[in-house]
Amino acid sequence: MKYLTLAEILQPCVGQNWAVGAYDTCNLEITRAIVEASAADQAPAIIMIYPHHTPQEEWPTLLRIIEMEVERTRIPAALVLDHAKTLDQIEAALELGFSGVMIDASQAPLEQNITLTRQAVELAHACGASVEAELGHVGQGDDLVSGDQYKAHLTRVDEARRFVAETGVDALAVSIGTLHGLYRGKPQLDFERIAQLRAACPIPLVLHGGSDTPDQDLRRAIEIGIDKINIWTDVRIPFLRALKQALGGPIEKTEVNEAFEAARAAGSAVIRQKNQLLGSAGKATRYR
Ligand SMILES: [Zn+2]
Repeated sequence: MKYLTLAEILQPCVGQNWAVGAYDTCNLEITRAIVEASAADQAPAIIMIYPHHTPQEEWPTLLRIIEMEVERTRIPAALVLDHAKTLDQIEAALELGFSGVMIDASQAPLEQNITLTRQAVELAHACGASVEAELGHVGQGDDLVSGDQYKAHLTRVDEARRFVAETGVDALAVSIGTLHGLYRGKPQLDFERIAQLRAACPIPLVLHGGSDTPDQDLRRAIEIGIDKINIWTDVRIPFLRALKQALGGPIEKTEVNEAFEAARAAGSAVIRQKNQLLGSAGKATRYR
């Protein structure tokens, strides 16, 4: 199975006003939702496994599922480990054939983040895979804070320039006002900072916390310079809502496959909307 590396899948969209959707999966149904939506849209897809959702011992099984689905549909795809915290996780992923890994030392001091990221880059590049790192910290929507406290977590442009040069990282996740999960208030994206980071960093920029962010904000972020947008909650909620609805009748008469099919269709529908919004729909031909 040949995946595109994270660097390869992002390369065609840099400076082109579109971004690749990066979707987490943890099972067969969500994997199919991602792959079928991307095949229908002729869109590239970054398929991600998040260690917090899928324990390491389950990665090989999930990988087989992803591999078979991607082979069946022949979409341009990268397989990425999302938010790895340790080099052990990175090594395990590389051994299994992931084409990209994210090392997240965003809560560590700068020097430590640089050191750990550089080590991840050495390991991954030796295997022909790419690395994404995070500078500044993208928190959780539940923690939405305002004023100086929130600004303290944003990515500093001078640090980003140094970080990219010293680590050799392939893509940089930046903190510019989005948060993971659902927002408690309205997100305030710092578009000026995206423009400055774009000018300072010669590599693709990544936006975490793409879910629950207004469409026009995502579009503007892409036009200024974001190349990869991570989405989980916006798939998770419609998926679970459809599943819950499918389970609403008499349970004795409910078919398991039909309930999951409804959930999968809901997940797929939202991924198709995202592919349109991000502008990745129709871009599969750019990889041939
Ligand atoms: Zn994230």
